[in-house]
Amino acid sequence: DASEIKGEVLVIGAGPGGYSAAFRCADLGLKTVLVERHPTLGGVCLNVGCIPSKALLHVAKVIEEAEHINHAGIKFAKPEIDLPGVAAYKSGVVKRLTDGLSAMAKMRNVTVVQGNAKFIDENNVIVEHTDVEGKQTKVSFDNCIIAAGSQSSKMSFIPHEDPRIWDSTNALEVKEVPKRLLVMGGGIIGLEMGTVYEKLGSKVDVVVRGPQVMTGTDKDIVKIYTKANEKRFNFMFKTQTQAIIPKADGIYVEFKGENAPEPQMYDAVLVAMGRTPNGLKIGLENTGVEVDEHGFISVDKQMRTKVSNIFAIGDIIGGPMLAHKAVHEGHVAAEVIAGHKVFFEPKQIPGIAYTFPEIATAGLSEIQAKEQGINYEVATFPWTASGRAIASDVSHAGMTKLIFDKDTHQVIGGAIVGDNAGELLGEISLALEMDCDAEDIGLTIHAHPTLHESVGMAAEIFHGSITDLP
Ligand code: FAD
Repeated sequence: DASEIKGEVLVIGAGPGGYSAAFRCADLGLKTVLVERHPTLGGVCLNVGCIPSKALLHVAKVIEEAEHINHAGIKFAKPEIDLPGVAAYKSGVVKRLTDGLSAMAKMRNVTVVQGNAKFIDENNVIVEHTDVEGKQTKVSFDNCIIAAGSQSSKMSFIPHEDPRIWDSTNALEVKEVPKRLLVMGGGIIGLEMGTVYEKLGSKVDVVVRGPQVMTGTDKDIVKIYTKANEKRFNFMFKTQTQAIIPKADGIYVEFKGENAPEPQMYDAVLVAMGRTPNGLKIGLENTGVEVDEHGFISVDKQMRTKVSNIFAIGDIIGGPMLAHKAVHEGHVAAEVIAGHKVFFEPKQIPGIAYTFPEIATAGLSEIQAKEQGINYEVATFPWTASGRAIASDVSHAGMTKLIFDKDTHQVIGGAIVGDNAGELLGEISLALEMDCDAEDIGLTIHAHPTLHESVGMAAEIFHGSITDLP
């Protein structure tokens, strides 16, 4: 059963990049076809990424706060965890959002085709349907936007086929709470899922190859996070797994490295060691699109590949693998196709770990400022001096940090570690995009007492130290 359709624009993949691009194309009057292999729209982010992880972290936070409020003279009984109830809450959140996307696609007359798309040349793909067995549809297009995303990386030395070896998708199913969980990798995904399982009752070890979690994030920020989590996790820094052997009574893991412990048994192992783009699976060899050996597609600032009518966005082009980056790139690709002269040139792409406490960064880190030879100065405001942080019992693990160009006094980066850091970061992102200087931020009246006051305070600390205002 073969059929044919034609779109002015074909979008492959309905993750945040793909649906944003498709919707913008439709809004700009282009006849748009969106191909997605899964029955729901939303890609990794909505189905098995950003959203379900945040639903579970919300549950974890409630448990954490119930335990923590002891300090303030309130005692809750130990929470009873109804795991199917937790899973149902998470699924309900996801469904609400993915249903919303379907409705929006309909409203805009975007044609959604369910199946796997593969290029046959630079103007056609074949879609193997995943909704109707054996059905194929040929989709021809004037322009195509590839937004096929990424998946968890697999390593040859890890027995991924064992059901106790998890990737993030398995961890998000919350089918069981392992007594002992090993998290491999100290990045955002590993730490977020580790946080969830620790609150649900697992004893969690985190094995990290380097000397700190969140590689690339400034040491002073990470130090506050690590100190606050010393009891939550058993961190094994500068350590690697040497052998992972499934046995009847658990997963046997051997370690190597400076601080390697004796071999341990785990009930589950979460592999969170990066993501691999899907660029090698979509028939790009039948086009002139340039794709590297990992599967990353190269594009210019208009998201255009080497082939002038084929664009690529999101995780599949590399850079920070984040939903909001994909969305903005999607808008650029759509607008370029519609004939607008636009470019993807952000001054900052924020990144947030929704851990306890949260770690949020935007613009340059101190490491990057140093690498780039910028004459910079750092201003930090510790939350031990924040009235709101003290009143809310979160002052022990919080800091707001701004990085300024000493010559121009412009803010070039910022990081916050602390409760709600992710929400507080918005102000810094805007300040960076608008090229604010220390005076702009410091003289902005921030409400008292708030946590975001700390951003104003940090700017004032720098501003106050300036004697030679330009
Ligand atoms: P994806 O979301 O990967 O979507 C690609 C889509 O293309 C998929 O639906 C796939 O099925 C489809 N597809 C692939 N190949 C084909 C084909 N040949 N034919 C048809 N369809 C195809 N980012 C954040 O910004 N904030 C977070 O809090 C956050 N949390 C995360 C938590 C987890 C556990 C994970 C795994 C990721 C998280 N991310 C987060 C990252 C975020 O999910 C990705 O950056 C984002 O989804 C990338 O969007 P995308 O559009 O590039 O691709």
